[in-house]
Amino acid sequence: MTPHQYLFYAIQKKLHLDTVWYRYCFTVVRETDASKAKLYPGKLVQEPFGFFYIDDENKPVKIQTNQKTSEPLFGKNDPVTITKDWFPSLQETSLETTIGRLLVNLFIVEAFGSKLPYMNDKFSPSDVEGKIAPLVKSTPPEGSERDPKVFYVDEYVKFCEGVSFLENLSAIFSHSVSRVGVLPAPGRREFKQELLKKYEGKLTDPVEMSKFEEELSQYDNNYLKQDPAYGTFMKGKTAKSRSKLFMSQGGEANNFTGSMEVTPIIPALEDGIALDDKGFTASSNVIRFGSFARGAETVNGGVVSKGLNNAADNWVVIDGDCGSKLGITRVYTGSETYRLIGRTAIIDGKLVEIPDQETASKFDGKSVILRSPLYCKMESTRTCSKCAGPELSVFKKGVTIPLGEVSSGILLDSLKIMHDSSLTTTVMDLKSVLS
Ligand SMILES: [Zn+2]
Repeated sequence: MTPHQYLFYAIQKKLHLDTVWYRYCFTVVRETDASKAKLYPGKLVQEPFGFFYIDDENKPVKIQTNQKTSEPLFGKNDPVTITKDWFPSLQETSLETTIGRLLVNLFIVEAFGSKLPYMNDKFSPSDVEGKIAPLVKSTPPEGSERDPKVFYVDEYVKFCEGVSFLENLSAIFSHSVSRVGVLPAPGRREFKQELLKKYEGKLTDPVEMSKFEEELSQYDNNYLKQDPAYGTFMKGKTAKSRSKLFMSQGGEANNFTGSMEVTPIIPALEDGIALDDKGFTASSNVIRFGSFARGAETVNGGVVSKGLNNAADNWVVIDGDCGSKLGITRVYTGSETYRLIGRTAIIDGKLVEIPDQETASKFDGKSVILRSPLYCKMESTRTCSKCAGPELSVFKKGVTIPLGEVSSGILLDSLKIMHDSSLTTTVMDLKSVLS
C-alpha cells in the first residue's frame, strides 16, 4: 500500500476526526509500551525499519515509501491528487491539492455535507461563514425535510466544533519559533551602512525616516520569507518588532513638545541604547512618554465616555419620519457601502430608501446625502427613526450604548500608540474622509 492509499483508507475510517491520528501521521512519535499494545484498524505504526498500518484484521501491513523513518509520513503541504471517491462534491474528475487543505475541507463536509464545493485555496473560517451567512435558516424540527440549498444553524454549530477541533492541532501544524524567526537577516549591517549614505542628513525629517525604516524592514522581511511561520505567526507586530531589534530603533519624535522633527536612533536594540546626547535623550523621552502618557491618555477615553453619556442620557429615538430634507454628505467606497443598508438618501430633494447591498453598491465612490440625527426636525432630545437609521434605532432609549463605541475607539487609539508604534506614511483621500 502506498502512503496515498493509506491516507484514503484512514479517511474512510474517519480517523481524521481523532487528534491522535494526526500525531502519528504528522509528527515523529515515541510510543510507550501501553500505547504500542493498543492496536486498531487504520493506526499508523512508526518503526525504525519502516511505516506500517493496522488493517481490518488488526495485522500490521507495510506502507511502501522512501520516506525516512526519522521524519513524519505526511506533511500538511504534501501534494495529493483526489477524485470524487475522496470528496463527493468535487466538481473536477481529479484535483491536485495538499493534504492540509483536503483535511480542512473534510471538516466542512462533516458540517454541511456536500453543499459547499471543494476549496483549493488558502482560506479561513470567515471565508466559509461569508458563503453561508446569506443562506442560514433556523434548524427545522426533527424528522422534517431539509432544504439542500440552505444552511441550518445546527450545521453551523457543527462547523464551529470542527474549527475548535482544528485549533487543537496547532501544536502540530503552527510554527511559532523557528531558527529563521529568532535570528537576524545576514548582511543586515552592510545593507544599513549603504542605506545610511543614501539618507545622509535627511533622517530628522519624519517622512524620510519612515522611508528609511521601510527599506530596512523590507530587507528583514525578505529574509523572513524563508520562515515557515511567515504570514501566519510571523507578521504584523511580531515581524515589525524584529526591525527595531535587529535593524534600527528608528526615528523617535518628542511627543512632549509635539515637534514634527524626529531624532534618529540608528543602532538596533541588539546594539544597546544610544549613548550620544541626542539619542539618549530621545530614548529616555520615549520611555517616559510611554509610561506617563499611557496613563494620562487613558483618561481621554474615560472623559469622552462620560461626556457622551451625559449628553445622550435622556435621548430617545421615536419611530417615524420627521420629513427633514437635509442630511450629511459622505462618500462610501468599496466594502464601506454596506453601512448604507437601511439608511435613507436624499437625491434631488426626494427620499430614496437603500434596502439592500445591491442598491447600496450603486453609491460606491459617489457623494451621497444621508438623513442624519444632525438635521432631524424632532424637538427636544428626540430623533426620528428615519434620521437615526436602523443601527441607532435598535437603541431607542439607550443611545449611550452605541456611543460607547466612540469613546472606546479613542481609548484604543491612545493605547495602541504605546504598543510598538512605528512611523509610516499613507495616502489619504480627503474627499472621502472629510466629506
Ligand atoms: Zn428626523
